[in-house]
Amino acid sequence: MSYQKKFRLDGERAVVTGGGRAIGLCCVEALAEAGAAIVVIERAEADAREALALREKGYDIDLRIGDVTDSARMEAIATELADGGRAATILVNNAGIGQSGIPSQDVTDADWLRMMDVNINGVFWCSRSFGRHMVAMKRGAIVNLGSMSGIICNRPQPQTPYNVSKAAVHHLTRSMAAEWAEHGVRVNAVAPTYIETPMVMAVEANRDRIPIWLADTPMGRMGAPEEVASAVLFLASSAASLMTGTIVNVDAGFTCW
Ligand code: NDP
Repeated sequence: MSYQKKFRLDGERAVVTGGGRAIGLCCVEALAEAGAAIVVIERAEADAREALALREKGYDIDLRIGDVTDSARMEAIATELADGGRAATILVNNAGIGQSGIPSQDVTDADWLRMMDVNINGVFWCSRSFGRHMVAMKRGAIVNLGSMSGIICNRPQPQTPYNVSKAAVHHLTRSMAAEWAEHGVRVNAVAPTYIETPMVMAVEANRDRIPIWLADTPMGRMGAPEEVASAVLFLASSAASLMTGTIVNVDAGFTCW
């Protein structure tokens, strides 16, 4: 028995949505370094430049252009990969959007629908399309990007649509895990705290919020995207062979308080 080998992904084929930057890009690197062949899904080729540059390290990285809200496109990519004998055995549902600071009474229909479309519909469309082939193959691992916002309600900024979308991701994770366990497909999620990525750092209003967030965090710091990718790698690997339907907090202790 080699415990180190359990973290290897040689022969696996991983699809990472939104794998072009930040947490998604780190997931691409983590899974590729472990030996998986990767297909990144991004909306534009320019967004995937850094991911494709990882080929220089000898990694097998491919790109498909698509928007996770486009269920027909996700189905077409899944079918194309399966028809070519390269059906995904790992899916990381990373693509997501954030929006905060809007009180619920001011959230527009468009705000709400867009949040649900990307953060929950997109996760379901991809899980359904890529997961169908995993079910047929009787093996696979799906890792969803949930959030501590699916567990707690952030303060001081209101962000009900985001929080609800991530709570839905968590329950989708449990529901599909229960359903697909008998087919050899594991479904888990990570629930990160605030991570230093464009989603958080590009928002001007967050500068004043950060000290409040850190005061609420036992470890007193935000996270780096690589720290999330490590947990994703673990859940995708056979080191987590007994884990399904789990929401793994990667949150510097935030949810302890
Ligand atoms: P970023 O905004 O930095 O990156 C998101 C990536 O997803 C981008 O590459 C983006 O591409 C892509 N994307 C967005 N919408 C779509 C779409 N409709 N179809 C395909 N790709 C899309 O986010 P993070 O790296 O910070 O977050 C990644 C995930 O982690 C998200 O699900 C997020 O909710 C979750 N998370 C993040 C936390 C944080 O503090 N950063 C905390 C907890 C969870 P494009 O350039 O086209 O927009």
